Amino acid sequence: MISFLDLKEINSHYELDFQEKVKTFLNKGRYILGDEVKSFEKHFASYCGTKHCIGVGNGLDALVLIFKGYIAVGKLHKGDEVIVPANTFIASVLAILQADLVPVFVEPDIETYNIDPDLIIEKITQKSKVILAVHLYGQLAEMDKINAIALAYDLLVIEDAAQAHGTILDNKKAGNFSHAAAFSFYPGKNLGALGDGGAITTNDYELAEVLFSLRNYGSTIKYKSEFIGVNSRLDELQAAFLNVKLPQLDDDNESRRTIAKRYLLKIKNDKIVLPIWDWSNNHVFHLFVIRTKKRDDLQQYLLENGIQTVIHYPIPPHQQKALKEWNYLSLPITEMIHQEVLSLPISPVLTIDEVDFIIKTVNKY
Ligand SMILES: *Cc1c(COP(=O)(O)O)cnc(C)c1O
Repeated sequence: MISFLDLKEINSHYELDFQEKVKTFLNKGRYILGDEVKSFEKHFASYCGTKHCIGVGNGLDALVLIFKGYIAVGKLHKGDEVIVPANTFIASVLAILQADLVPVFVEPDIETYNIDPDLIIEKITQKSKVILAVHLYGQLAEMDKINAIALAYDLLVIEDAAQAHGTILDNKKAGNFSHAAAFSFYPGKNLGALGDGGAITTNDYELAEVLFSLRNYGSTIKYKSEFIGVNSRLDELQAAFLNVKLPQLDDDNESRRTIAKRYLLKIKNDKIVLPIWDWSNNHVFHLFVIRTKKRDDLQQYLLENGIQTVIHYPIPPHQQKALKEWNYLSLPITEMIHQEVLSLPISPVLTIDEVDFIIKTVNKY
């Protein structure tokens, strides 16, 4: 059986370095916001090309804290509207709601699966304050167009870069195309910890100062609280593991692109729609997503042939029970995507033989 994502295999390559880190960690006895977190924040900011990086508990909290940070500095207010792609992972929407803001769903472009910039302007109202751009599946959203709209309408731009660590356009990395960006280090992401983790990148000094405080009870000086903060710090041990893995990220992304290239050149099946990619580094293939009319049938066929696949995602946010208020919406492109998408295995540890077996099996369908 070819598993969708063999995390154990991925992390086994770092085992000795991890053991070294754990040993140092135990010897030091500093468990919260120690040198490993500081070092990771410094190196991840430098990797993304941003002035600041704030380590937090997970990707969802990274988004929530960016919103709360902008509320704390007075740039956002309760009830403000946030424009968000309708086909994103539910966490993007949960973050908006947890910050007492209002999601406004915009359909994606069917070729890129990212928010369709041409559909944004018609959704802008007096209450619009933010565009939340999601780099879905690892491909950069159309940031030049999004930023131009934001400039014209005086909106903040926030990136959900949870699937896009290391995505590059014109020498600039995901996380550096907006006012602030959220990353997740959930184990399955392109840069994954061995547990939960997240980070915010920004060039906004004022926001960064607030975020260092908000993630830690609203306090930077012990027992002195300036904001109604939360407890969402990047864990010291996870930061240590991430420090080991970060130097490998670019090579890992290159391996993913090599596999994607092979899929794109060799999968030939009229029943299947392949992702569109211009071979540039503006995609890190967190997921390789194909589309087909009888998706569940294809998934079953692949499983019977020893290939595990996953659906990202089976139900769009506006049709989730949790989001009853938005269940009335009709978003045909989003709904079609959720019925047709299937993610093939892709990861730095997938072998070329496995890739070729997947290609052969898909072509026979
Ligand atoms: C994974 C993910 C998140 C949430 O990250 P967690 O660390 O799991 O909280 C948010 N947005 C997107 C697009 C994601 O893929």
